[in-house]
Amino acid sequence: MAQIRARGIIVKQSDYGEGHRMLSIFTEEYGIVKAVSYGVKKTKSKTGAASQFLRYADFDLYQGVNKELMTVNSVDTIDAFYPLSEDIKKLSLCVYFADITYSLLGMNNPDERILHLFLNSVYALAYRNVSLQKVKTVYELKLMCAGGYMPAVGGCMSCGSADVYAFDLLKGGTVCRECGGKHIITLNKTLIRALNYIISCDDKKMLAFNASPDVLNSLGALTEQYIALQTDRRFPSLDYYKTISEM
Ligand SMILES: [Zn+2]
Repeated sequence: MAQIRARGIIVKQSDYGEGHRMLSIFTEEYGIVKAVSYGVKKTKSKTGAASQFLRYADFDLYQGVNKELMTVNSVDTIDAFYPLSEDIKKLSLCVYFADITYSLLGMNNPDERILHLFLNSVYALAYRNVSLQKVKTVYELKLMCAGGYMPAVGGCMSCGSADVYAFDLLKGGTVCRECGGKHIITLNKTLIRALNYIISCDDKKMLAFNASPDVLNSLGALTEQYIALQTDRRFPSLDYYKTISEM
């Protein structure tokens, strides 16, 4: 049994019993952990009030006999990303980010790089004037790179030819006409340049490039299909985000 202090961000919340909340917290030290916040509906509970989706904080956690499930003792907020709480589109995009992050990382698997990519993306959505499509595409691609699925984009990944024309979602890289398989998305020079930039840039500069909405849309279609195919999952939160975005 132990008392743990961990810095992290709440990536999921759900009701738990009468007036309690089950949280998934993506922490620096322990990866994504589960913890219960008791009495969140009590008006005087500071911890309860802070036990919210996307709360970035130092958490005091108590690990009892059940190591898989901790208890939240206190929450010292660093950032609540308040502008997001009023924007359903941005919020639903963050839910999707949390889903794809969990599907790559699983529980109890610390990854500081992915945590910072996640935080950078949430920060950009809350405080910077960047399009949602851009943040989405870049997070999807950077997450895949950090999670061990970095696309190979220097020529055809099967035969080495410099004459690439498409991205093969299954092989995970660019291919020439001879080598392309069934799951391909045609590329042009602008798309290849954008792909290259995002893959190779410093994480801190991941949003510092210019691309037209058209380019971002095409690239976004590629990155979301790449994730779905490589993780072999469908993400209802992505469908929900798209439904809201069209309203
Ligand atoms: Zn080839």
